[in-house]
Amino acid sequence: MNWITKFIKPKLKTLFKKQQKNNEESLWTTCSCQQLIYKEDLFKNLHVCPKCEMHHKISCHDRFSIFFDEGIYNILSMPQPPDDPLQFVDKKKYTDRLREARKLTNQDDAIMFASGKLSGINITCGAQNFAFIGGSVGAASGEAFLHGVQHALDNKTPLIFFSCSGGQRMMESAIALAQMPRTVLAINEIKKNNLPYIVVLTNPTTGGVTASFAMLGDIHIAEKGATVGFAGARVIAQTIGASLPEGFQTAEYVKEHGGIDLVVPRNNLRDTIGILLSILLKKKESESSIENVDIDTVNKALPKTSEAV
Ligand SMILES: [Zn+2]
Repeated sequence: MNWITKFIKPKLKTLFKKQQKNNEESLWTTCSCQQLIYKEDLFKNLHVCPKCEMHHKISCHDRFSIFFDEGIYNILSMPQPPDDPLQFVDKKKYTDRLREARKLTNQDDAIMFASGKLSGINITCGAQNFAFIGGSVGAASGEAFLHGVQHALDNKTPLIFFSCSGGQRMMESAIALAQMPRTVLAINEIKKNNLPYIVVLTNPTTGGVTASFAMLGDIHIAEKGATVGFAGARVIAQTIGASLPEGFQTAEYVKEHGGIDLVVPRNNLRDTIGILLSILLKKKESESSIENVDIDTVNKALPKTSEAV
């Protein structure tokens, strides 16, 4: 087997790296609809495929730059707990996975928060980057979430969060699970202080994130076509021994069954959330354009007691 280790493996690695570099430098990209898309067109269309309308996953920086007024925002600095508290190793060392994820995403961990304005209203906004170990939540992401909530409390701003995650980070085991009650308690503080909390569920939002802070918003919006669920569809089908209905765990299906208030395409999110905030905060005028917003549906989505203010 020595010749495989010595000659074939390094050759394959070089070829793979070359291919990866070519892909990064290429002006074109692909979508699940198998179409070639000019990267510039995808960027201009807010990373939504112009052919099949698939909403591609985006980084926290891209999310903030398309969401805040004029793309202006301040990244909040986050506490950085020690890496790898359990010295976890699977096929790779967890520390190596973290190093690779940081290099790939230019982020310290999966969650980032920023402050800025939406429709002229000061907001605190957080997002998860799926490219950082599946957007998973460990100690660092939990700390980041608490820090973002504290910023909203200190500055009395609404909190908007874009979830995108496979759940808790298995490499941190019980420490990752402990972030679920911590983040829930943080959201309770937002509610006690009567600040609006709006969650935008993006593709995919699953596992412990759905079982904690992502499902505690005053209003839940999902991006079109997003997968929203707790356990995977295949696991559920195997457990109950039955086939699942068509569209199971899609944003549209979950909305139909009462789990989500609104399903909104990415290009209407700014206007929809701007209008919702102006209603929740009882602002007389909104800078959001009402043209892109289905106002009847938005009214139906508002909390019945409307005490989120
Ligand atoms: Zn497509």
